[in-house]
Amino acid sequence: MKFPIIAYGDPVLRRKATAIEPDEYPHIKELIDNMYETMYAAHGVGLAAPQVGLSVRLFVVDASPFAEDDEALTGFKKAFINAQVLEETGDEWPFNEGCLSIPDIREDVYRCRHVRLSYYDENWKHFEETFTGMAARIIQHEYDHIEGKLFTDKLSPLRKRLIEKKLNDISRGIVDVEYKMKFPAVKKGR
Ligand SMILES: [Zn+2]
Repeated sequence: MKFPIIAYGDPVLRRKATAIEPDEYPHIKELIDNMYETMYAAHGVGLAAPQVGLSVRLFVVDASPFAEDDEALTGFKKAFINAQVLEETGDEWPFNEGCLSIPDIREDVYRCRHVRLSYYDENWKHFEETFTGMAARIIQHEYDHIEGKLFTDKLSPLRKRLIEKKLNDISRGIVDVEYKMKFPAVKKGR
């Protein structure tokens, strides 16, 4: 089942998401499968639960589209439950990022090269692991979502001003997008 993706401007994207208790989500694998299905249909490489309207600490990534440039990313497909960043290290490098909740906008964002995380996988197995390069970047972007942050927060005041109108339009549904979205400033029935 595919979810509609929540668009920029919805308060759920700004909430710090809460940790998941295993008993609360006995069907978490089904939820994760649905998130993958939603992400693939929108040609994304990551999707966080707040982007489908659930303010919980869960995100999925699949970096295989980048495997052409970086062999280490072949089959890099993972779900992260209750992730906590332990440490970010290395130089900050730029990459032109986009976001399924903010269609049609891409901007250079600087992030640290390495990130060390504590997280659980879909079988509730615990990991502490360091990720590097593009894998780290995708994880850092998705992690920001469960902290209520968006990549546009990281832009300079000038860049923010330049995309302000476009962001407003997105929240009102004035954007061409090929996947199903839910726009906060559009009345029901449209
Ligand atoms: Zn995003």
